[in-house]
This record gives sequence, structure tokens and C-alpha cells, in this order.
Amino acid sequence: MTMPACQSTRRDGTPCRATPTASGMCFAHDEQLRQKTAEGRRAGGHNRSNSRRAAKHLPADMRALGSQLMEAIHECHAGDLDPKRLSAMGTAAGAVVRIHEVAETEQRIHALEAAAHDGKRWGA
Ligand SMILES: [Zn+2]
Repeated sequence: MTMPACQSTRRDGTPCRATPTASGMCFAHDEQLRQKTAEGRRAGGHNRSNSRRAAKHLPADMRALGSQLMEAIHECHAGDLDPKRLSAMGTAAGAVVRIHEVAETEQRIHALEAAAHDGKRWGA
């Protein structure tokens, strides 16, 4: 007995082998399910407000990076993206995140130093 597989095909024309949902297609190939999930994210109270609050603190390019990675994960799951490319994207994304972290830390230290300097001048 063979395992059920997604009824859709990959970009290269070969059959998709990802685990299907009730529709017979995998998450990445089931347009309706993807739309429903996106609607659910928009409509959902708790998750929406939490992720929106979290996203507010992210620079725009980091938000774009996040959605690009999510898209790549779905594509890879459906067999449309080489896992090696997804892995390379993950490595590069990690480096970008570290650069942002360093920049943010530098900015905070600078602000603290400036505040301490002001404190010396005005205080005591
Ligand atoms: Zn599929």
C-alpha cells in the first residue's frame, strides 16, 4: 500500500509527494486552504494582535524577510524549492538577523552613553 500523496504537480512537472490535506492536495498546493489560513490569521483576535504588536517592532525589511522565508518553507514542503536553497536562505537570514542585532545593541549603548554623559553634566 502506498502512502497518499498530494495530487498536484511541482513546478518541474513531477508529482508532488507532500502529505495531502482533506482536499487531496498538500498545504502549499491547496489554494483554498492557504486563503482560509490567511483569512484566519487576519480575523483571529489573539494571534493577530500579538503578531501585529511583534511585527511593529521589526524593521520593514525584516518583516519582508520573514514572509519570504515562510513562502520558501511552503515551496520546499511542496517540492517546488530545493531544500539546499532553503537551507542557504536560512543561513543568510540568520546572518542578516545577527547584523540587525549588533546594530540595535550599538544604538542602545550609544543612547545609554549619551544619557550617562548628560547625567554627569546636569546631576551632582
Ligand atoms: Zn503538493
